Amino acid sequence: MGDGDDDDLAAVPSGPVRVRVPAKINLHLGVGPARPDGYHELHTVYHAISLYDEITARPGDTLTLTMQGLGVGELALDDSNLVIRAANALAATAKVPAQARLHLRKQIPLAGGLAGGSADAAATLVALDTLWGTNLGRDELARIAATLGSDIPFLLYGGTALGTGRGEAVSPVLARANRWSWVVAFADGGLSTPKVYGELDRLRAEGRAPAPLGSSDELLSALRQRDPAVLAEALGNDLQAAAISLRPQLAETLAVGDKAGALASLVSGSGPTCVFLARDDAHGADVAAALTESGLCRGVQLAHGPVHGARIG
Ligand code: ATP
Repeated sequence: MGDGDDDDLAAVPSGPVRVRVPAKINLHLGVGPARPDGYHELHTVYHAISLYDEITARPGDTLTLTMQGLGVGELALDDSNLVIRAANALAATAKVPAQARLHLRKQIPLAGGLAGGSADAAATLVALDTLWGTNLGRDELARIAATLGSDIPFLLYGGTALGTGRGEAVSPVLARANRWSWVVAFADGGLSTPKVYGELDRLRAEGRAPAPLGSSDELLSALRQRDPAVLAEALGNDLQAAAISLRPQLAETLAVGDKAGALASLVSGSGPTCVFLARDDAHGADVAAALTESGLCRGVQLAHGPVHGARIG
């Protein structure tokens, strides 16, 4: 064994590797027509917010997954779980045995429109790239991520980023540092992302969907102005009408936020989570109090963005 190999071995940790990963919202989600492969062409602006899942990876003889938090008893922990799929994809690419004990601490709700499953996959790639000493780095991990799901590459990088294609082609938005205050309102139960896209296609075919959003240019220029009132005007989500059509109560939740003075109220991704832009955290606390009082939400939380993507520590 040469010196280089010794160095590589020394770099592989034997203890747990813990990775925290944020949820995403879409500041702009423009949905084009369905492509021949069934995916819709997207132009979106992703934004990572301070609501986190956590993956801990330890050495093991086989590949196992345990979990705590939201979704226990509901989320399968077998090969269908995005955590296991991400681990197997990394092992296959790096040609290493897929062996690790993985534990998921879940705070991002299932099927909430916050890309929680994608976040867990991104965290797994980062954790195992370190535990296994494969050291592929973010860009190579992003290539593996794109084969697993459209939102996963973004969650490796975090921040605010433009997504094109089916969302997997990500380029960071070089906005001057700013801290945006959000209120996140969780709903009971989830919404299936494919069903929401299907509902949008149906509404469009019947001429009942709002006009599709244009490009993300207005949103990008609003981000540069660093004024939450300007950003509020530019936020938009083509999936919102479809999510409300499937879950009419979401319109009431959005109306509570509007009435409480939120600068903007919108469905996050495919829903049913709703997000509200506030002037600052104190204003956010007022909006959150009104949403809690309405009794329409399973829970309400303050968050801020942008935050980093999947990271050790
Ligand atoms: P997206 O907006 O990316 O579609 P979402 O936030 O609406 O995501 P997720 O919770 O990310 O929904 O996942 C949707 C489905 O993916 C779940 O209902 C579940 O069947 C499957 N899934 C697989 N692995 C996971 C995981 N680790 N966490 C959550 N869901 C997972």
